Order: sequence, then C-alpha cells, then structure tokens
Amino acid sequence: MIIQMNLQNLIHEIPTGVKLVVVSKTQPVQTIRALYDSGQRMFGENKVQELVAKQPQLPGDIEWHFIGHLQRNKVKFIAPVTSLIHSIDSFKLLKDVNKEAEKICRKVNCLLQFHIASEETKFGLDWEEAVSMLASPEYPELKFVNICGVMGMATFTENQERVRQEFSHLHTVFQRLKETYFKESPDFKELSMGMTNDYLVAIEEGSTMLRIGSMIFRPG
Ligand SMILES: *Cc1c(COP(=O)(O)O)cnc(C)c1O
Repeated sequence: MIIQMNLQNLIHEIPTGVKLVVVSKTQPVQTIRALYDSGQRMFGENKVQELVAKQPQLPGDIEWHFIGHLQRNKVKFIAPVTSLIHSIDSFKLLKDVNKEAEKICRKVNCLLQFHIASEETKFGLDWEEAVSMLASPEYPELKFVNICGVMGMATFTENQERVRQEFSHLHTVFQRLKETYFKESPDFKELSMGMTNDYLVAIEEGSTMLRIGSMIFRPG
C-alpha cells in the first residue's frame, strides 16, 4: 500500500531519537489500522469528537496525541484516553485538564503550545504568559498534569529562513524553561515541531517530535 510506503520512506529520513506522530485527522479507521499493522503506534488528532470516536475502534496500545485547539468544555472527553495533549495555550485550560484528570485519578501529559508564527489566527502562549503561569503559586498545586515540553507551529510560508528562525526561537524557549522551571523534571524533554512542509528544518533545529499527516496520506 502506498501509504505504508510513504511512512517507511519518511521513517528512514528521521534520525533516531526523533519521534513521529502520524496526524490521522480526517482519515478513516481502516487507514489508521493499516499503518498500525506496519508498526506505527503514535497518532495525532485535532478534533475531540474524532479522537473519541476512533479510539475505541482501534487497538488499545495506540498512543493518541491531541494536537488541535482544545476547548475547555471538551477536556473531560479526552482526559481518559490521550497520551499527550500538545496544545495547552492558557493557564485556565491547564487547570481544567488537572481538574478532569484528578476526577479519574490519571496524570495527563501535556505540552505548552507557544505562538511562534506571524499569523494571528494561530494559538499559543508567549513567554510572559508561560512565566506567569509557571511562577504562580497555583501551579505546583496541579498534581494531575505533567508538563513534558513545548509545541509550536511555524508560519505557513515558502520562506525556509523564516521558518528556521521561528523553530530556533522555540528551541530557545524550551531551553530557558528547562533551566528555569524544569531542572528537576526529566519528563520535560519534548520539542514538538515540524509538519509536512517544514519537518526537515524542524529536525535541524532540534525537534524531538514531528507531527506529520499529508505527506503520508497523499497518493503517489
Ligand atoms: C494537521 C496538523 C499537522 C500535520 O500537518 P501536515 O501538513 O498534514 O503534515 C500538524 N500539527 C497540527 C497542529 C495540525 O493541525
């Protein structure tokens, strides 16, 4: 099958130590199953309803990553099933995830999403917001969230230099947070950046986790 070949070709390009989240949004469960059968275990979805509908139809050892903008009233649906939420973009949202996770006694892994692109439409924290959250006395009370790193999306542009600067900036943010707030946290290690159009630049700029969809699913 062409998609399994696409995936294998991509995996050969990725250095060891860099993880691949296959973004399976809009793809039917049979297609996801085909990639599962060829060994893939990490899949990413950007809509709560879609993740919740697909998850019970597929094997239980799949890691479901939530990568889209997360509405606060939908946290309860994914808290039991997601292995990593990439898109924490406000303190309120983090508190809601903690609250829902506490109800089910499950520690939920999260990444802080940073706004690194020039498009205003993209979501994410800036440095000041992240610092005021992590330095807040309320933050250490959140025992049911585990912050594992940061995520960002670069500007949608052909300008690779611009994309490189944005990823490099996110890497700096990651390092500064690690030194300042997560020195004693071995779990804080993920730098989620890189999609179909920019994954090679993302790898060069230190990505540990790629989120890639269309280049795997496009025919030929
Ligand atoms: C769709 C999506 C991706 C994958 O993008 P492709 O260009 O299809 O590789 C990655 N991250 C997020 C947040 C997405 O919504």
